[in-house]
Amino acid sequence: MSKSLQAIRGMNDILPEQTPVWRYLENTLAALLEGYGYREIRLPILEFTELFARGIGEGTDVVDKEMYTFLDRNEESLTLRPEGTAGCVRAMLEHGLTGGGQVQKLWYAGPMFRYEKPQKGRYRQFHQIGVEAFNQPGPDIDAELIVLTWRLWQRLGLADAVTLQLNSLGSSEARAAYRDALVTYLQARFEQLDEDSQRRLTTNPLRVLDSKVATTQALLADAPTLHDYLDDESRAHFEGVKARLDAVGIRYEINNKLVRGLDYYNRTVFEWVTDKLGSQGTVCGGGRYDGLVTQFGGKPTPGVGFAMGVERLVLLLETLDLVPASLNAPADLYLCAFGEPAELAALALAERLRDALPTLRLLVNAGGGSFKSQFKKADKSGARFALILGEDELASRVVGCKPLRDDSEQQNIAWDALSEHLAARLGAGSSL
Ligand code: ATP
Ligand code: MG
Repeated sequence: MSKSLQAIRGMNDILPEQTPVWRYLENTLAALLEGYGYREIRLPILEFTELFARGIGEGTDVVDKEMYTFLDRNEESLTLRPEGTAGCVRAMLEHGLTGGGQVQKLWYAGPMFRYEKPQKGRYRQFHQIGVEAFNQPGPDIDAELIVLTWRLWQRLGLADAVTLQLNSLGSSEARAAYRDALVTYLQARFEQLDEDSQRRLTTNPLRVLDSKVATTQALLADAPTLHDYLDDESRAHFEGVKARLDAVGIRYEINNKLVRGLDYYNRTVFEWVTDKLGSQGTVCGGGRYDGLVTQFGGKPTPGVGFAMGVERLVLLLETLDLVPASLNAPADLYLCAFGEPAELAALALAERLRDALPTLRLLVNAGGGSFKSQFKKADKSGARFALILGEDELASRVVGCKPLRDDSEQQNIAWDALSEHLAARLGAGSSL
């Protein structure tokens, strides 16, 4: 196939076999979020480039290397959103939703775009479900976000597959003081740093802590730690978060190298990590970003949030065989009709059945065909029963009900009694 007729590298089709798992994940999380009082917000996929440059910050990988940016027909620089927080904050300000200290608890879902090296668990179009809370400065809300992700893992059966990493970045002043100390320490060992880290030392020094290079990690063993620079208020905030996690019984690991990729975080940062997906192990990450709204010119507005990677969670569910079998359940019924008069009656009957049994999965044969070919299709559909309507059945206003998965007898059922009969016969294991 010519290249222009293929999907762009790193941008995937999600085929019908896969969409049930996606919906299962999305619906489970949406129900859970609504239960904690979070409401959905839908945001544009394109924003002015400036929004991300200002919000995420120059010097971050996302802004420097990963954005899909282009000029539109009006010569304005637009960017396909690489994450959701900046757009969400923009919407809050634009609609005055966080003014006067109004609390907002929001969630969104959708595609994000980053020009990264595609590999398992890392794509150029990927999907996130994100959650943000505004105007809640205390540790209780940080803890709530973590608690609800923990509850999601329970619901999905993933609780044993993920661990929680937790850190506090302190106030922006504390972070700046730490940054200076780290730069001084690393500058003295500049030659021993890997090339990426040498570059980051000037652009975004805290990101050196993230380095995957073993020699750099060894060098960091004796480096000053963020923890020693925490201001008293951030320390108390962090204790508050931990106390709440302890109260619920959520285990965590303090990781004082956890700084997260985006520039806007302060105080609490966290990641849920799995060792089941190779190096793309972070399935959810977030933290507090009290300074972001002022960065956009708004009044000081505390914010905290997280985003989870849908592809990685789907992969994890599949890898651990945690996709409920019922998601791919076949049709309940396949309706065969022979000759046009019977076809018309069958269609009307099918619609009456759907009235009576709204969740029924009923396939109506299309394209006519002989007994043999229609039965073949009925069998292939996986349906438990074939309903049969030919000339004789039409004349006596009955329908043949033929079990396809066992040897029990075919029965003729009067049209008027059909929905009741089916409700009783299909019962458990059907969509009813
Ligand atoms: P990573 O370190 O894996 O690049 P990140 O810190 O860049 O992640 P965030 O910006 O915090 O990621 O995004 C939140 C979540 O979105 C990640 O934890 C991950 O699950 C998912 N994610 C991020 N980038 C990608 C991608 N390119 N493909 C698939 N999922 C992604
Ligand atoms: Mg990344």
